[in-house]
Amino acid sequence: MKVTVARPTGLCFGVRRAISELENALKKYGKIFGLGSPIHNPQEIERLEKLGLVVVDNPGEIPPDHPAFIRAHGISPKMRESLLNRTSLIVDGTCPFVRNVQEKAALLRQEGYRLIVVGNAAHPEVQGILGYAGEGAKVAGNVSEVPTDAGKGRIGLVCQTTQKEAVLQEIVAALLSHADELRVFNTICGATLERQQAVMELAPRVDGMIVIGGKNSANTGKLVEISMESGIPTLWIEHSENLERGWVRGKENIGIAAGASTPDWLIQELISTLESARSPRGMD
Ligand code: SF4
Repeated sequence: MKVTVARPTGLCFGVRRAISELENALKKYGKIFGLGSPIHNPQEIERLEKLGLVVVDNPGEIPPDHPAFIRAHGISPKMRESLLNRTSLIVDGTCPFVRNVQEKAALLRQEGYRLIVVGNAAHPEVQGILGYAGEGAKVAGNVSEVPTDAGKGRIGLVCQTTQKEAVLQEIVAALLSHADELRVFNTICGATLERQQAVMELAPRVDGMIVIGGKNSANTGKLVEISMESGIPTLWIEHSENLERGWVRGKENIGIAAGASTPDWLIQELISTLESARSPRGMD
């Protein structure tokens, strides 16, 4: 059995940077309160919690003047204000690319555009962006979710960083036919696209793809979708322990892809598990 890892794959620049800042802060403060889960990966969260991370859902849960951490997804201005009312010890891990979406949304709002954010309304990154996009901003996850009156007036469009380019193109095409004015910032992150392309390139060369990453990770889910669309058997696991022996059996070329929030150690463990499957005792 041959195992090929998609390139690039795994932790993106923004998450790697945020986790490194969090680890430095944990060394400095011993304990830090993370506003929301700092990485969409349960195994990595478990590791960070052992180092002193406490994940909370809102600033009110942070004891006054205790250190707080903002994850790579960023937060809305209103949330930042609540956080500052609680503590001035803030370690800001917002990814610079997410910051760019927030700035573009604020710019469009300032210039009088009505905003559509292409993305998943429930995703924390989109929640944060909406805080900059202003009242009346709408979220569309696909072309059927574009508001029916969206074509009227001046429309501004930004995109959740982890969206698929095809979805953005479809929405732009739908709006183009009847918008008075349409201004689009393609804010899809390069890291996401590169990982998606790596899966597309690897898929025809393997007879099965294992995508490793949190089930709560949007960008990992997109990799799974792309792999399945290419028609090859695809397995989505969070940990090498979830690997199914029956799924691996009979496959000669296995591809591995990992979401932008999957730490290196989980990928390495998966490679080792697959390598052990080559041994006479297999994955016993
Ligand atoms: S996927 Fe892109 S935007 Fe999101 S954290 Fe990573 S580098 Fe930043």
